[in-house]
Amino acid sequence: MAIATINPATGETLKTFEAIADEAIEAKLELAQQAFNKYRYLPFEQRSLWMQKAADILERDREIYAEMMTLEMGKTLKSAIGEVEKCALVCRYYAKNAAQFMADVPATTDASSSFVRYQPLGAILAVMPWNFPFWQVFRFAAPALMAGNVGLLKHASNVPQCALKIEEIFAQAGFPEGVFQTLLVGSDKVAKIVADDRIKAATLTGSEPAGASLAANAGKSLKKVVLELGGSDPFIVMSSGDLAAALSTAVTSRMLNNGQSCIAAKRFILAEDIADEFIKGFVEKIEQLKVGDPMLPETDIGPLATPAILKDLDNQVQTCIQSGAKLLTGGRPLSEKAGNFYLPTILADIPPDAAARQEEFFGPVALVFRVANIDEAIELANSTSFGLGATAWTTANSESDRFISELEAGAVFINGLVKSDPRLPFGGIKRSGYGRELSIQGMHEFVNIKTVWVK
Ligand code: NAP
Repeated sequence: MAIATINPATGETLKTFEAIADEAIEAKLELAQQAFNKYRYLPFEQRSLWMQKAADILERDREIYAEMMTLEMGKTLKSAIGEVEKCALVCRYYAKNAAQFMADVPATTDASSSFVRYQPLGAILAVMPWNFPFWQVFRFAAPALMAGNVGLLKHASNVPQCALKIEEIFAQAGFPEGVFQTLLVGSDKVAKIVADDRIKAATLTGSEPAGASLAANAGKSLKKVVLELGGSDPFIVMSSGDLAAALSTAVTSRMLNNGQSCIAAKRFILAEDIADEFIKGFVEKIEQLKVGDPMLPETDIGPLATPAILKDLDNQVQTCIQSGAKLLTGGRPLSEKAGNFYLPTILADIPPDAAARQEEFFGPVALVFRVANIDEAIELANSTSFGLGATAWTTANSESDRFISELEAGAVFINGLVKSDPRLPFGGIKRSGYGRELSIQGMHEFVNIKTVWVK
């Protein structure tokens, strides 16, 4: 894939970049190693000041960064501004809490003193996707840098200017040269970079094939990997649930980020006795959404990030309809507009053997299902290879207990939108990946958990 900024709302190529040469990669790896040798010993207070400064810069220039995101991948400008603010929040969260998360933990043993000490590992490679071009990077970088690691970012090839801006933010904030670097390279270079001795671990957010490839390559040199991959999150509504709240959350969850979010609700599993009412309201609300120019404040849904994503999504929808599913609304690209626009779509009556039941729809497409009882709801929710997030709407404690305990997911939200929050760990199980980001658990992914025993 070419490294380029191509406006998804118009199809216009705005800027192209040459991938950096092997010698430049070598120089950046060496710089990262040299930077780590000193940076790791700096006090938390110093790192914290720089991280707070990064937050200040993000807040000060939120509109510049937001416009860049919208231009490169098509999210609405208003949501992009929210994303920049959330990045500032995660910087402040780790600036405040890192010292406590990394503090020694005493243990009572046969030693006169024994404890656990957390120490940074070194240079961490982050392979990141385009869908939240700032947030995905900051949720990795804030804890990693506060722990004393240094970061190398291989961003998605369609958001190169976001990648460069992020590097600039950390430099402007005062972090020493080499502590955070962007590598403008294609995915063909990742295997070689991860094999390099100076890279100590890697994290990838993206698709299953990319995750499997990175994990296999990192495995060859026995390096730790965190993987945040795809999802097909269930959104279960029981008869006792607050239907109005569930409905508006359903629309937000499925259509957020033009439908391109890993933790979007993708399968709507409805108790039979509320299904008709829910579906009627869902179709009405979805049809009211305004698809159009993502820079305009009145737009709800912008274009998909690339023509390939649009084509793949439409193929999935058409295959699903051919397999016997019923189209309730949408179901086609908005061909009267230039750019990668797709009409918000709802599919129902999806046959038991349809491939769609096992797929992730990475765009504004909702699949709805009806179930007779909670057993069927849980069985259907768990019937995919994914296990990222899950939502259930109910006011019965016995039901919410069962959802919390039986849903196969990295996160279960009862009566609310699945979202990431710096205070809570984030990640999946099954083919949605492994490891966690955010919170104390995320910070401890890239540290040496050193046991110390003194007689
Ligand atoms: P993708 O194609 O896997 O790209 C993600 C990143 O991986 C990009 O930087 C890409 O580089 C790189 N990459 C691609 N193939 C690679 C390979 N073989 N080896 C190493 N790196 C490789 O993902 P996407 O289609 O853009 O993103 C959508 C997917 O990401 C969805 O499945 C979504 O659910 C998932 N996602 C998950 C989370 C989460 O937190 N769990 C968050 C967001 C998105 P190039 O751009 O140069 O190809």
